[in-house]
Amino acid sequence: MYYPVLIIGGGPAGAAAGIALQKAGVQTCIVDKAQFPRQKLCGGLVTRKTKDLLNSLIDDRAENEIWQEVSAGVHTQLKLYNRFELASSVTIGVPFDTVYRKVYDNYLVRYYQEKGGTLLDGNLPVSLDVEGKKLVLKSGEELNFDYLIAADGANSWVRHQVGLSIDKRLFCLEINVSRDDFNYEGIGIYFDVIGVGYAWVFPKNDCYCIGIGSTEKPKKDTKAIFGDFLQRIGVRNLEKYPFQGAFVPGGGFLKKPYYGDNVLFAGDAAGFADPLTGEGLYWSLYSGMQAAEAVLAQPDSVVRCYAVKCRPIQKNIRSVMRTRILFHKPLYQFWLKNVGAHPNFVRYFSDHQLSQYEGEGAVSELLKKVPRRYFQHFFQRR
Ligand SMILES: Cc1cc2nc3c(=O)[nH]c(=O)nc-3n(C[C@H](O)[C@H](O)[C@H](O)COP(=O)(O)OP(=O)(O)OC[C@H]3O[C@@H](n4cnc5c(N)ncnc54)[C@H](O)[C@@H]3O)c2cc1C
Repeated sequence: MYYPVLIIGGGPAGAAAGIALQKAGVQTCIVDKAQFPRQKLCGGLVTRKTKDLLNSLIDDRAENEIWQEVSAGVHTQLKLYNRFELASSVTIGVPFDTVYRKVYDNYLVRYYQEKGGTLLDGNLPVSLDVEGKKLVLKSGEELNFDYLIAADGANSWVRHQVGLSIDKRLFCLEINVSRDDFNYEGIGIYFDVIGVGYAWVFPKNDCYCIGIGSTEKPKKDTKAIFGDFLQRIGVRNLEKYPFQGAFVPGGGFLKKPYYGDNVLFAGDAAGFADPLTGEGLYWSLYSGMQAAEAVLAQPDSVVRCYAVKCRPIQKNIRSVMRTRILFHKPLYQFWLKNVGAHPNFVRYFSDHQLSQYEGEGAVSELLKKVPRRYFQHFFQRR
């Protein structure tokens, strides 16, 4: 079989690329080793900017229609903790949605198929010949292509095949706890429970997704830290919930998000996720859509065109990495002690910096925008 564009991985990055290309009349095929609907370890927190981007991709359906199907809850209460002490609890103006990735990703691949795309799920690729433009599946089937979009996640098989690697990854542990075993209001973020990282509680329709992740290897065993955390917040019957672990890109990304002249890396496979918050759903959709645009633009070099389109993502990640210093213990202890007195600050940060994409990383945009006078006032209040 021949497809002008072959996509490996049917997560948000691969599906976004496939949908955009199909809508423009380019025949594509998505190969995924898993059978959809499939699970993907993820907190499933969706920011407004991600919703807007998805709505722009699925532009022949009303926003309500899409989110009625994929949303697992809408949340307006945000709580920040300094260890287990509540530092701030605010009602945010721009709500967050939560999704079950099984439902969300399945929605995207089904929509892709509706647009005429071919989904070969439950199919493991076993060999890739980039120059010969050929992929062989475990089933023995051969697929030929002009361009390959590698959207096969944080442990990308394609990246390994072509000898590219990414450092700096965030290791996360997660469980989904039934409402019978835990009770919680709003979205909770806990600092100072694990190195430079945080723990989260994201409510969904019938469960709570609780997880922990750090940009640095913690001094203590992550499992032990997570177990202690779950006990401290009052999760019952812990033995029912085996911990699951996965990586998310933590600041390491491909400087050249391509290989040769016909392989483009998108989403986690390229290392495109926010290294502080771990938010990856936004950049995966964005980079998938940019990969499609690069192919559609028919420039002299598709890969170089794509590299240019990825610069805003890379700039954003670099800028977030520069502000990571603020998340080292003495500094965040300092601002967490103060945020309680300034709910507007947290609200502003959430509504403007996390929910809208305005160029550079959330913290550095905030530092640029909030006038010095405000900071002086902020620090003088206590
Ligand atoms: C614990 C955890 C919590 C997270 N929470 C959030 C959150 O709350 N909000 C947020 O925005 N982001 C979150 N993220 C990040 C987010 O999950 C990822 O950034 C996002 O899934 C990336 O999408 P993707 O399409 O690039 O890759 P993926 O979603 O990983 O999709 C990759 C696809 O490729 C397939 N695949 C893998 N290998 C192969 C292979 N060899 N051959 C064929 N197919 C293959 C997989 O089956 C999968 O379908 C979290 C991540 C983790 C680990």
